[in-house]
Amino acid sequence: MTRFTAPPPSAMKGAGMTSQRARDRLIERLRAGGIKDEAVLEVMRALPRHLFIDEALASRAYEDTALPIGMGQTISQPYVVALMTQALHVDRVEKVLEIGTGSGYQAAVLAALFKEVFTIERIDELLRLARKRFRKLALNIRSKHDDGNVGWPECAPFDAVLATAARESIDPTLLDQVRVGGIVVAPVGPPGQQTLVRMTRGTEGWTKESLGAVSFVPWVKGVA
Ligand code: SAH
Repeated sequence: MTRFTAPPPSAMKGAGMTSQRARDRLIERLRAGGIKDEAVLEVMRALPRHLFIDEALASRAYEDTALPIGMGQTISQPYVVALMTQALHVDRVEKVLEIGTGSGYQAAVLAALFKEVFTIERIDELLRLARKRFRKLALNIRSKHDDGNVGWPECAPFDAVLATAARESIDPTLLDQVRVGGIVVAPVGPPGQQTLVRMTRGTEGWTKESLGAVSFVPWVKGVA
């Protein structure tokens, strides 16, 4: 588990919107939107989201919106990151696998709350940038360049799997890597009709609950 310290002044240059005050405002917005987990809110208050996007967009880092990160992908909307993290942040969840590293922001939020974080990204260029950020912030995150569909069998079972790209349903290969009692949080459904679901693995199978409508980039096969 990691504690964030305030970013150095060099990381704050250029725009008032990268200030702590902008971040505080974002947190109030998340709270007003129904995010109740104080630990999640505190982590997001401390984590410099502007370090996960291109400098040209840094002034928009604390708007509650998804932003482009290149290669046709996006850093997720802060509200959705908070909602997904809150859905995972329950007793006995310590070892989490994320599919879709992207900018690395969601993985960084997870690293502050959970003992072990693994993340898989199919686009090499994005993963390399994300790894640089993990090093800069001294985050303990294990990452690999692969098609998330195969999961990470050598490190399974996981207490939880979080997908940040959407598909019609989650493959059994991945579901099998979650321990009994563990959870999956994932956007499922076709473009324009995605729902964020939380599935819990019981001894007799999976139960499913809906956490609301969301809009994610599609899950794509293979690596790039
Ligand atoms: N969690 C990210 C969100 C990035 S968007 C963040 O906080 O920034 C979703 C990411 O999922 C994209 O980077 C995309 O390349 C990746 N992705 C899509 N299909 C994938 C797959 N099959 N395996 C691994 N990553 C995938």
